[in-house]
Amino acid sequence: MATCHCNERHTRRRVVLTGGPGAGKTAVLELARRAFCGHVQILPEAAGIIFGGGFPRAADPAHRQAAQRAIYFVQRELEAAFDESNAALVVCDRGTIDGGAYWPGPQDLWSAVGTTLQLEQKRYDAAIHLRTPEESNGYNFQNPLRRESAVEARLIDERIAGLWVGHPQHYVVDATQNFLDKASRVLAILHEQIPPCCRVSIGDPAVHA
Ligand SMILES: [Zn+2]
Ligand SMILES: [Zn+2]
Repeated sequence: MATCHCNERHTRRRVVLTGGPGAGKTAVLELARRAFCGHVQILPEAAGIIFGGGFPRAADPAHRQAAQRAIYFVQRELEAAFDESNAALVVCDRGTIDGGAYWPGPQDLWSAVGTTLQLEQKRYDAAIHLRTPEESNGYNFQNPLRRESAVEARLIDERIAGLWVGHPQHYVVDATQNFLDKASRVLAILHEQIPPCCRVSIGDPAVHA
């Protein structure tokens, strides 16, 4: 974490880093954690908390719906936990929107939790979508919580992209082969979201890797 002596009162901005499985979000957020100051808060992924914590995983619709509702509410409360902090930027590892790409139906996640897609888009000042690579282009199965095939991962990635259409600050980072290219693009976008009082020089992300 970069040293910071800022005493300003910040107006908190909330940014979501999203994308289908295997896009490299976790690794990019680890770089961000090291590159920025302590006023940039990086939240854990709600799905990781739910499934890593033992929420049962099964393919039937009732289980999948229950899991997505649980993820939605955990995400909301993770964000609420930092509302009174003096964070300048809260970076979410996926947001409330993502569950919509996993919802098995009927209807949609939004009606199931009493909200709308438009309201959920408004939670975030910006969204950065890290696209899932093709299988030949770096998708891997190293994450033990990951269950999707490369084809499913791409479909989920497409659905996530569709859910962000219309958001005024929606950045798409293509799945290039070079991870550090993607990482530096994401760090540059995050850097622009940080108020000047807390902007540190990020330099080359390869240095932080
Ligand atoms: Zn500051
Ligand atoms: Zn700071």
